[in-house]
Parts: sequence; C-alpha cells; structure tokens
Amino acid sequence: MKIVFFDTKQYDMPAFEKFGEKAGLTLKFYETKLNIDTAELCKGAYAVCVFVNDDVNAEVIDKLSEYGVKLIALRCAGYNNVDIKHAYKKIHVVHVPAYSPYAVAEHAMALLLTSVRRIHKAYNRTKDFNFSLSGLTGFDLHGKTIGVIGTGKIGRIFIDICRGFKMNVIAYDKFPIDGSGIEYVSLNELFEKSDIISLHCPLTEETQHLINENSIERMKKGVIIVNTSRGALIDAEALLAGIKARKIGAACLDVYEEESDVFFRDFSGHIVSDDTLARLISMPNVIVTSHQAFLTEEALENIAETTVKNIVEFSENGFSENELCYHCGNIEHCRKDGRKKCF
Ligand code: NAD
Repeated sequence: MKIVFFDTKQYDMPAFEKFGEKAGLTLKFYETKLNIDTAELCKGAYAVCVFVNDDVNAEVIDKLSEYGVKLIALRCAGYNNVDIKHAYKKIHVVHVPAYSPYAVAEHAMALLLTSVRRIHKAYNRTKDFNFSLSGLTGFDLHGKTIGVIGTGKIGRIFIDICRGFKMNVIAYDKFPIDGSGIEYVSLNELFEKSDIISLHCPLTEETQHLINENSIERMKKGVIIVNTSRGALIDAEALLAGIKARKIGAACLDVYEEESDVFFRDFSGHIVSDDTLARLISMPNVIVTSHQAFLTEEALENIAETTVKNIVEFSENGFSENELCYHCGNIEHCRKDGRKKCF
C-alpha cells in the first residue's frame, strides 16, 4: 500500500519509517505541499498524508478521488485546511486528535514566560557580553488573570500549568465542561478581565478573527495575547494596530494567519514580502515561533504511530476511530453511531 507524504521535513521521516515499515507500508516522501499542481503525485496511492499547510481544497479532493485515493490522513489535529464537506462521500478523512497536548500547552507557557521575563532579549545581550539589566523589567505571573479560550485537551493542560503559577484562571468555551472546576465566563467578560489571553480553540467560520479590532478594544491596556492554535483566529492587521497603539502589551505567536507561504522554511538572507509579518517580528514585544509548539520527540512518535494505525485500521476494517467529517462534533447529527464510520 503506497502512502504519499506532502510537506515532509527531515524530522518527520524517522518515526514514520519506523512505524510504516513495521506495518508493511510503502512510503513516498515529498517536500512539496499538496495543492492542485502537485496532486498528480498521488496517482497510485492508497492514502495521502498531509500537514497543516497543505491545501486540500475541493479541486484537490476531486483530483484525489479521480486518482482512486481512498484516504486523506492528516498528521495533525486541526483540519481547517481540508474541505471536509466536499470530501464527504468522496474520500474518507482521518486525523490525529491528540499526540502530545502537553507539547503545545508547555510551548504556550514557554512563550509567555519568555515574553514577560524578557528572556529573548537577555539571551541576545549576554551572548554579546552585555550584562546590563535596563529594559528587562518583567512582572510576576502569580495573581494575574489569564483568560483561556477553548478548554479542550490543550486548553485544560495549559490551565493546570497556570494554576501551578497560582494565576487566576477564567475561560470561555462554546461547549463548557460541567463539573470541571473551570470558571467559565462570557467571551466579552474574558476580554475585559484578562491580563493575558491564550487561544486554544479550533479555527472555524465562527472563530475566524476572534481577536479583531472590536475585541481588542474591549481588552485591558497592556494585555498579552498568546496564540498556539491557528493563525487566522487573530486578525493580524488589527493585532499590529493594537501593538502600535500600545493597547496590546505583547504578543506570543506560534501561528500566523498567512503562515503557509513562510513557516517551516528558511528565508534568512531573503526579503520577506509579507509586510505585516515583518513589522510584527520587528516589534520588541512580539515573539514568533514558526508553528513549533507540537515539535517534541514524544509528539513526533505519537503522530507517526497514530497515523499509521489510522491507515492500517481503515484499510483492514473500512473505518477508523479517528475518522472525521463535517458532521463530527455535532452529537445530534453524528453519523458514526452504530456503523463506526462517517459514510
Ligand atoms: P480540542 O478539540 O481538544 O479542544 C478544542 C476546544 O475548543 C473544545 O473544548 C471545543 O469545545 C472548543 N471550541 C470549539 N468551538 C469553539 C468556539 N467557537 N469558541 C470557543 N471554544 C470553542 O483541541 P486541542 O487538541 O485542545 O487543540 C486546540 C487547537 O490547538 C487545535 O484546534 C489546533 O488548531 C491547535 N494546535 C496547534 C498546534 C501547534 O503546533 N501550534 C498543535 C496541535 C494543535
């Protein structure tokens, strides 16, 4: 069974080779992203394995279907880059719902601590034997109010970490968890009360540009925004304007709205054409990592193991517990009941 991988990096391959070979799969790795121009590479494949910035739109899905591809295997949790509505009844889609929620939650806290204690600045200074402390004054996280949007797997671990710092945690989730001990508030209350806001909800039509001019207007002066979820949760132009107006105290971004053309690649020595990203990076109070939050040894192993399991399970049984479709998440309309598959 041939599986074609897109947007592959060197660090992806060892774990996939380990689990893939054990399962008897033939793996073909491509560095290029999947899009309509590269879809032809999927001819003869049983499944395609894609990542966050592959563009699996309706046109690509039709091509894959024409080539007889049976499965789109996402090696990530989020699936906003796949037109799952269009894929319905054409090609089955599986994902890795959880590989290491700790990796992402810990990265969110690493970014926050780096920002509030100016570690990024101190690191550069001491490398240059500059031991001055001026401009490095931070603040205690202890006692600060942190607003967590999305209390799923990652959000809840992040909340536990924040509680370890004795922070005051408030949260918003469209589907709050009863009896969780989490203090849920409305979205507006969260914007108004939080010293720090951390995003852990998926990107949907509803959450796109959740952080925008109006929501920023409601926030406290000096608020810190942490985004390790998906770039388009934040209107990057509005964020930049908020930073320039000194309304936003700092931003910690592991994801960026237009990241697909830039992230995961080396542009050092080149002119970056995205002015908004360039301006954000130039700000002293903005830290950008390039969709790195997931990148731990544990996560890479878990991603490869679950993806291979999804593919093998699907090929043997015609279903996988990690299949998803546009009905998923809607208890009333879920199609999996009884027959274990979406269609
Ligand atoms: P999850 O499905 O366990 O949790 C998501 C939570 O968001 C759920 O509790 C859900 O009820 C809530 N939610 C859904 N719609 C909402 C809305 N409109 N408003 C508020 N909350 C809403 O997912 P997770 O594993 O915790 O992952 C969260 C997100 O993290 C993913 O969607 C993905 O985009 C992102 N992620 C990023 C990286 C990275 O490397 N940066 C890695 C993995 C996941």
